[in-house]
Amino acid sequence: MFIKENADKRAWIHQRIRRSEIDKYLINGKSFLDETEIQKALNAGADPDPQYIRAILDKSLMIENLSLTETAALLHVTDLSLISEMRETALKIKKKVYDNRVVTFAPLYLGNFCVNNCLYCGFKEDNCDARRKVLNDRDIRDEIRTLAGKVGHKRLIVVYGEHPRNDIDYIIESIRTIYDVKVKVRKGEGNIRRVNVNAPPFAIADLEKLRDVGIGTYQVFQETYHKQSYARVHPANTIKGDYLWRLYAMHRAFEAGIDDVGLGVLFGLYDWRFEIMALVKHSLELERVFGIGPHTVSFPRLEPALNVEMKDFKQYRVSDEDFKRIILVLRLAIPHTGMIITARETADMRKQSLSLGVTQMDASTKIGVGAYQENITDQDARRQQFLLGDPRTLDQLIREFCEQGMITSFCTAGYRCGRTGKCIMELLRKGEEGKFCKLNAILTFQEWLDDFGSEETQAIARPVLEKEISEVREKYPKMYPKFRQYYERIRNGERDLYI
Ligand code: SF4
Repeated sequence: MFIKENADKRAWIHQRIRRSEIDKYLINGKSFLDETEIQKALNAGADPDPQYIRAILDKSLMIENLSLTETAALLHVTDLSLISEMRETALKIKKKVYDNRVVTFAPLYLGNFCVNNCLYCGFKEDNCDARRKVLNDRDIRDEIRTLAGKVGHKRLIVVYGEHPRNDIDYIIESIRTIYDVKVKVRKGEGNIRRVNVNAPPFAIADLEKLRDVGIGTYQVFQETYHKQSYARVHPANTIKGDYLWRLYAMHRAFEAGIDDVGLGVLFGLYDWRFEIMALVKHSLELERVFGIGPHTVSFPRLEPALNVEMKDFKQYRVSDEDFKRIILVLRLAIPHTGMIITARETADMRKQSLSLGVTQMDASTKIGVGAYQENITDQDARRQQFLLGDPRTLDQLIREFCEQGMITSFCTAGYRCGRTGKCIMELLRKGEEGKFCKLNAILTFQEWLDDFGSEETQAIARPVLEKEISEVREKYPKMYPKFRQYYERIRNGERDLYI
């Protein structure tokens, strides 16, 4: 039995990578990620002229992507007053593109079996102390009943290891199950309306299946773009050891018709300046080939995990100051892109990141497989990929946003009404997405408050929402009557209305 399972697994691994689906994108046999080009740009950017930096900031403020040379120049700024100008611009960009909205979500780990052996990960195959589990239909329904019925999440990022037990058919079925669960709550019905997917790189045929089930964003993080460092932490005899298969995951996604993708780096594996440049290059490459950049970027920092030797990763540890610079430069370099900071970071760091340009956060987060239904309160390292830094609930996080004058958007209209890909990028660049997003944010936030908000949070949210509503009346007078009608319907218990 064991021998057969192992043979099946080996056969499954063997057919994962389709060489032809890498080669077709290479130019003269080479990838778009040219380390010499990045290094050259980093060297050329040293000691930038303040006038040049101000011209770059003006370009960012026009919601235009920066070049590698321009990004490098921002990385080299040391003058404190210039850094403060960069921060002001980052905040203006965020306001222009995303107004004062924050999007929230929860991660949901569906399985932690994995055939890979990434040195930094608690789920690696050789970690015999990890407690492995794949959620079955009943488990998934229980997890969603907590997330959508008790906490009030509308968006998830579902996470899967790379393993035949979590293959594409399992992934598709699990997403269908997630969308299927509806829970009666205070005034309406709780359900998950947008499933973003963090999964291994797939072949085009599998990505087409993923497209058809109706997902939000498809995320694949490169972890590190630096080839030598990549090879150091991803053993060559594993699927993940194939750098190019991962690097071209998003090219294949676009080709399969998934036009909403998320990039990311696991900071701490190599020099963070190089990684930012490479992330920007990846974004520019997607724009060049497909006319659309990433919808989101993520920038997790390496965290301790079960049976991971952290001393092996000391050399490229990212300090808090450098981490803030990462967020700032990314906000300026790819200004239309959503930026995600997760509960890996502490509450204080997450609070600071908002003023640097972050737009999305998770809350009430549990990253053990099956941890929501079991209401595990401690962090059981045997079931987690890493350890968390911010245990706050969604209600607490939302209250803090309100105290800073921000509202939480639970809007999931985008992929359901066709505002994805090129369409959403254009709206974001023109700063016009707000027309829809502001309205839908208010509607969905009121819905959440009525169904899940504590009395304390409702009281703090009230004046913030009133201010938003009066802005809608002034800024969008033509849309106001329809919006007002929808708002009243929401208050009367109707759900999932969007404009
Ligand atoms: S990082 Fe992902 S691919 Fe690597 S061992 Fe962990 S779960 Fe598997």
